[in-house]
Amino acid sequence: MQNKKLISVAIDGPAGAGKTTVAEAVSSKLDILYLNTGAMYRAAGLHALRLNIDPLNEEDVLTFLHSLNIDVKYVNKRQRTLLNGEDVTDLLSNEAVSEAASKISSLPSVRIKMVAIQQHLATKQSLIIDGRDIGTVVLPKASYKFYLDAKLEERAKRRYKEYLQKGKLNADYEQILADMKERDFRDTTREFSPLKQADDAIYIDSTVISIQEVVKKILSFIIK
Ligand code: C5P
Repeated sequence: MQNKKLISVAIDGPAGAGKTTVAEAVSSKLDILYLNTGAMYRAAGLHALRLNIDPLNEEDVLTFLHSLNIDVKYVNKRQRTLLNGEDVTDLLSNEAVSEAASKISSLPSVRIKMVAIQQHLATKQSLIIDGRDIGTVVLPKASYKFYLDAKLEERAKRRYKEYLQKGKLNADYEQILADMKERDFRDTTREFSPLKQADDAIYIDSTVISIQEVVKKILSFIIK
C-alpha cells in the first residue's frame, strides 16, 4: 500500500500573535497533529528551574542536557509534553516557566537537541508545527509556511485578557507588555536561529483581523 503524502505546515511568529489558537483550528480542520514546539522549550526551562540552574548558563545547562528527555504524546489528538517521562503539560504556562523557556531557548546546544526531536516527529506524520524557527531551521522544506505577526501592544492586550479569563485577576498589563518586549528582543537578537520570517513564508498580520479570519486565510492556501 502506498503511503499518503505527508504534509507539513510551519507557523512562526512572536509570542501572543495567536499561533497556538490558529494551529489548533487548522490541525483539526485538516485532521493532522499539532506540534507546539514552545512547550518543549518550556519543559526544558521547567527542568532548569527545578534543578535551580540558571537557564542562560550553557555550561550549567550542559550538566543535565545529555540526559534530558523531552517527548510528546497525543491524547485525543492533543499534545501532552513529557519531561523525562513525566507529563508536565499542565505546569508549563506560568510566568516563571515562560521566562526560563525564553532564556534556555537561546542556547545553541538546547536548540540543536530540540530541533532534532522536532524534525524526527515530522518524518513520521503530517503535522502543523508552530514556533520561532520552523520555516527557517526545523522544516526549511515545509509544504506551507506562514509568519503570523501582530503589533506588540495588541499581543500584550490579548495575553492580558487571556490571564483574566483564566482567573488571574492580578494580571498587570504594563508588566506583560514589558516582559513580551524583552522576550521579543531575546528571540530576534539571539545569535543562533533567531526568530525571523523565512523568505518563502506567507506573512499574515493579525493585529486587525480576527483569529477566525487568519485560520480561513491559511486554509485557503492549503485547501484549493
Ligand atoms: O511559544 P512559546 O511562548 O510557548 O515558547 C516559549 C519560549 O520558547 C519562547 O519565549 C521562545 O523564546 C522559545 N521558542 C523558541 N523556538 C521555538 C519555540 C519556542 O525559541 N521553536
